[in-house]
Amino acid sequence: MTRDEPRSVLIEVALPLPLFQTFTYAIDDAMAARVRVGSRVVVPFRQRRQIGICVRLDAEKKPGTRIKQALEVPDAEPVVGADLVALCNWIAEYYVAPPGVALRLALPVLLTGADAPRPSQRTRRILRLAGEAPSLIERDAIFGRAKQQRALFEAIEALGGSTSAEHLRDQLGFSPAVISALEKRGLVVAEAEVVARDPFLSRRIVQTPRLSPTDAQLNAIEEMSAADGAETFLLHGVTGSGKTLVYIELLRAVLSRGKSAIVLVPEIALTPQTVDRFRGAFGDSIAVLHSALSDGERYDAWLALKRGEKRIAVGARSAVFAPVSDLGAIIVDEEHEASYKQGEAPRYHAREVAIMRAHAAGALVVLGSATPSLESWVNAAAGKYRLLRLPDRVAGGKLPKVEIVNLRSRFSGGNGASAPPYSDYDRTISAELDEALHARLARKEQSILLLNRRGYASFVQCDECGYVASCPNCSITLTHHRTPERLVCHYCLHQEEPATKCGRCGGVTLRQRGVGTQRVERLLGERFPAAGIARMDVDTTSGKWAHVEILDRVASGEVDILLGTQMIAKGLDFPNVTLVGVVDADVGINLPDFRASERCFQLLSQVAGRAGRGPKGGSVIIQTRVPEHHAVVHALTHDYDTFVHAEIEGRREPAYPPFVRLANIVFSAVEEEAAMELALAAGEWMSQLLAAGQVEGITLVGPAPCPIERIKNRWRWHLLLKSSQPGTLTRALRFFAERYDPATASAERRITIDRDPVSLL
Ligand code: ADP
Ligand code: ZN
Repeated sequence: MTRDEPRSVLIEVALPLPLFQTFTYAIDDAMAARVRVGSRVVVPFRQRRQIGICVRLDAEKKPGTRIKQALEVPDAEPVVGADLVALCNWIAEYYVAPPGVALRLALPVLLTGADAPRPSQRTRRILRLAGEAPSLIERDAIFGRAKQQRALFEAIEALGGSTSAEHLRDQLGFSPAVISALEKRGLVVAEAEVVARDPFLSRRIVQTPRLSPTDAQLNAIEEMSAADGAETFLLHGVTGSGKTLVYIELLRAVLSRGKSAIVLVPEIALTPQTVDRFRGAFGDSIAVLHSALSDGERYDAWLALKRGEKRIAVGARSAVFAPVSDLGAIIVDEEHEASYKQGEAPRYHAREVAIMRAHAAGALVVLGSATPSLESWVNAAAGKYRLLRLPDRVAGGKLPKVEIVNLRSRFSGGNGASAPPYSDYDRTISAELDEALHARLARKEQSILLLNRRGYASFVQCDECGYVASCPNCSITLTHHRTPERLVCHYCLHQEEPATKCGRCGGVTLRQRGVGTQRVERLLGERFPAAGIARMDVDTTSGKWAHVEILDRVASGEVDILLGTQMIAKGLDFPNVTLVGVVDADVGINLPDFRASERCFQLLSQVAGRAGRGPKGGSVIIQTRVPEHHAVVHALTHDYDTFVHAEIEGRREPAYPPFVRLANIVFSAVEEEAAMELALAAGEWMSQLLAAGQVEGITLVGPAPCPIERIKNRWRWHLLLKSSQPGTLTRALRFFAERYDPATASAERRITIDRDPVSLL
């Protein structure tokens, strides 16, 4: 080989395709000089340009393959660090996802285009004084009667010699004509300066005085700061115990050691107060990865983190992939939240990914919650995580008193025949809750009302034959919405006009049953016409910043009653909220899912925790038809430990997490028969795999129809795998994903694998 001949080297590239393999490409010298593990590589694949990530250098030619030449290595530096490549490989392996799809998690959208563009950056115009500043006498000569020009010149001078054109125009009121006149005379020069697009810059930061920690907070902070490297802490602190302050002090310690950190919050739009507190403490060293960011803004934040210009990333689950180096800590706030699990491939759980990433980096993890998941609780009890407790509210605050109103004894019979003539309002808001709301309004205090069911009526039923209108595509009843008047499916968003006659018997008496938030809003408006009422649910928060706007109105005191779905249960800290009412605690309590009770307890405890966070104290009223249910009973006394002991017993037999690990394989098809056949054949294949002794220690449950049998026009069956050994489960799932070849497979039949599912519906 002569020196001029390009030396052909092979690399392994992961492509964002649903394929469980990587691909080998040849690169020339110029590419070889640039490419590293984690570099973007543009390659030809099936007549198209694809952008992939290099996952291995010095690859070997697989026998019988034809090697193609890569087209381009667009970046001088790898876009994904080697640590994140390894993390995504683990995700691909554990959650049984294609490697190229897993690697996408580590890239901002702007870098995933097949044409490998250089993302544009936003610039602003900066005006800078040119040359020596003239003396006062010279100024008279230069400016003469051009007073505006002189004023502008001196304004820039007063700002240190340069400032943005925007500031001069919008804040100081100089006209563009004056600005360009100075430019033409060569007295100022205009330059372009790259600015990070950060929509939070316009949100004022409230500088809170630095609080001195309580003894319990101090203890937690000290234990964490003393930890050496990769340790996982479970911070179990009751609502209002000041977990945020512990996080902030930990972050200070991390920064002071020159390291960086990631803070995960369940849904960033819902927690503007928490984000504001971090911004208040750390200002511009924080990158907030908000879901409302544009692709450009997201890219800027990503870049600032990658370059180390910002050292703290705050965001929802995907922030666990923030490109920070020298990771010191990852904080997972409200670690029990289901939103940490991604609902599409790769179906990762951000809490588990956080632990893997931190472990590899020698960083510590803090899982914080007032109601930890059973999994984390068991890990703490087994000594895998270190348990830290904040057992009391700060500053001598008390947990609110919780009272139960038993709706069952009140409206016995239920279908109205023998019951006294209660109005819709009375059926929805008990006398106790009504009186409590009234008292808050009279005292100018605020109330929060939870109803975890949006829409107007939860279903419409024929009085004569009992028929309930349901979705043509899903096995779900349709929810009645007002404004606009529609029946809506909450799964596939199918909409139809409400019928005037029963679809089955033609009966004309159709009744709306089960109240939703829209209806309660209306009932409250009629009952308290002078009150400020705000509703927060999916329907009122479609705008990007809608959550913040509603919550700002609560903070300013404009809202007397905040009504909403589970969105309002999290993180809110309003000292003037002295009442929390739960309109119907039973929504979801009887879902055919092993986590239904746990979710219900968490929701009740979290929402109750919004009450009485200020010196006035507070109380909670829970309306329920099942006051004896253990999720309700223990929420009443804020007794997490007793709840967990009761709940965990129910997970032993049949075994569910945390006693076993689960994988849920879901089969779906447009034809009911096809879904069933697909599931039965796969179940048979899996049984044979187990019978052959290829993998041991796995129990199969099913195949059986999913609890929700049909979603978006597809019939659904599932097969559940249980095992106490995660490694075994990985092996079985990979065997299945890579080797199972359904004879009847076609594009419209789908198989998805959900490892560690948060729900089996
Ligand atoms: P949690 O997240 O545990 O529910 P927060 O972090 O929201 O609790 O804190 C509850 C309230 O207590 C906040 O208003 C916070 O400013 C205040 N707080 C926290 N720590 C202290 C402290 N050491 N002294 C005084 N107030 C505190
Ligand atoms: Zn539907």
